[in-house]
Amino acid sequence: MSQSDIDAAARETLRLIGPDPQNWVPDRHAVDHNVIVIGGGQSGSAFAFALRRAGIGKVTVVDAAGDAASSGPWLSSARMHKLRTSKSLPGPELGLPGLSFQAWYEARHGAAAYGAIDRISRLDWAAYLDWYRKTLGIKVRYRTKLLRIEPVQDHLRLHLDVAGEVRTETARKIILASGFPSNGGPAVPDVLSRNLPKIFTPIR
Ligand SMILES: Cc1cc2nc3c(=O)[nH]c(=O)nc-3n(C[C@H](O)[C@H](O)[C@H](O)COP(=O)(O)OP(=O)(O)OC[C@H]3O[C@@H](n4cnc5c(N)ncnc54)[C@H](O)[C@@H]3O)c2cc1C
Repeated sequence: MSQSDIDAAARETLRLIGPDPQNWVPDRHAVDHNVIVIGGGQSGSAFAFALRRAGIGKVTVVDAAGDAASSGPWLSSARMHKLRTSKSLPGPELGLPGLSFQAWYEARHGAAAYGAIDRISRLDWAAYLDWYRKTLGIKVRYRTKLLRIEPVQDHLRLHLDVAGEVRTETARKIILASGFPSNGGPAVPDVLSRNLPKIFTPIR
């Protein structure tokens, strides 16, 4: 397969499912987003794609990480080299084989190489997730951290730290896809780390 054909399966899949539906959600006064997704990892990215395919527009994805490489645990805190679960479990491809990890991997390394791996390496998974976002045009606003959610009448006001500056945005719905802290890295509650001698505090 030539280099120019490497994403042929993904392109063909996107051609066959056709254009994204129009946004059917009526605008609401003073509401910036229909949905704000907190976290642009595998869950947040899959939600963004699913919402778009469901015709839900005005969706934004934010992530506290500085960039794609530091989002999620794969290239930062992870210590295990492989994913734990089987390579054949469904992923963020939403049932579309051309967008799956298997299609991505086989296009680059061949079907025999995919057959030979027992589980997915975290580096391959990070590269696949990066490709997934780029191929599907999922834009993540990095360096944007959710600080607080404030209920306001019929919507929600989000207090965000955007590159060190506090800003507010409004949304009808929020999806919390923020993972969990210490996924592969150390987590010592503040109350403990404040009182521990420096020698015991984790390096971040
Ligand atoms: C080596 C390793 C192997 C693993 N194997 C498996 C496996 O096989 N199967 C499995 O299911 N799981 C596995 N896990 C667990 C895996 O980490 C999670 O399943 C996966 O990362 C969850 O994806 P997620 O998108 O929900 O969260 P994450 O990937 O953690 O992404 C959450 C994102 O939210 C962002 N965020 C957090 N708080 C905020 C905030 N306040 N504002 C804005 N953004 C925020 C973070 O920066 C992050 O980028 C493994 C983990 C490791 C480290």
